[in-house]
Amino acid sequence: RFPSVEPRAGRSSLLVLAGPTAVGKGTVAAYIKQAHPDIHLSVSATTRQPRPGENDAEHYYFVDDEEFDRLIAAGELLEYATVHNRFRYGTPRKPIEQALSEGKTVLLEIDLQGARQVREAEPSATLVFLLPPSWDELVNRLVGRGTEDAEERARRLRTAKAELAAQTEFDYLVVNEEVASAAREIAALATS
Ligand code: 5GP
Repeated sequence: RFPSVEPRAGRSSLLVLAGPTAVGKGTVAAYIKQAHPDIHLSVSATTRQPRPGENDAEHYYFVDDEEFDRLIAAGELLEYATVHNRFRYGTPRKPIEQALSEGKTVLLEIDLQGARQVREAEPSATLVFLLPPSWDELVNRLVGRGTEDAEERARRLRTAKAELAAQTEFDYLVVNEEVASAAREIAALATS
C-alpha cells in the first residue's frame, strides 16, 4: 500500500528515514550522503559500543550513560529512545538547527520511536519509511550481516514485526529493492 502520493502541505527540508532493523537504512543514508553532499546527514549519539570500522563522530558519537544523561538534561537532543530494549540513541539538536539555518536539507536515520518524537516536535518534517522487499529478505539481511548473535537477532526481529505495522503513520513508503534507486527516491523528497 502506498498511501502518500501527494506531497504534504508545507513539507520541510527535514527528512526522517525510519524502518525496521536490517532493512538497510544505514546503507541508504550513507549512499544519499555520498551522492548528495549538500544534504546534511545527522550523526546520532549512542551508548552502544562501536562496531569494527565505525568511527566516533562519523558514524555515531559513542558516549557512556552518564554523558547521555547529561545531553538529555541539557536539552541537547531533539529526540532520543532506547532501541531494541538495550542501548540509547539520540539526535543532537544543534547541528540540525545549524544546517537548516544554512538552508540545507537534513536527513535523520532513526528508529520509529524517534520518528514519532520528531513528528511531534517538527510537524512539517517529512517521514519516510523504508521497507524490505519481503519479510524473508529482511531475515536474510539480518543473518547475512552477521553483526548480532542469535539472541540479539531474535530481539531485533520482534521489534521489526511491530515496526512494520507502523508504516501507515508515514508520509512515504520506499521499498529498498536496490540501494541507488531507494536513495534517489528519498533524495527527491528534499525541497532544497
Ligand atoms: P544500530 O545499533 O544498528 O546502529 O542502530 C540500531 C537502531 O537505532 C536503528 O534502528 C537506528 O535507526 C536507530 N537509531 C540510530 N540513531 C538514532 C537516533 O538518534 N535516535 C533514534 N531514536 N534511533 C536511532
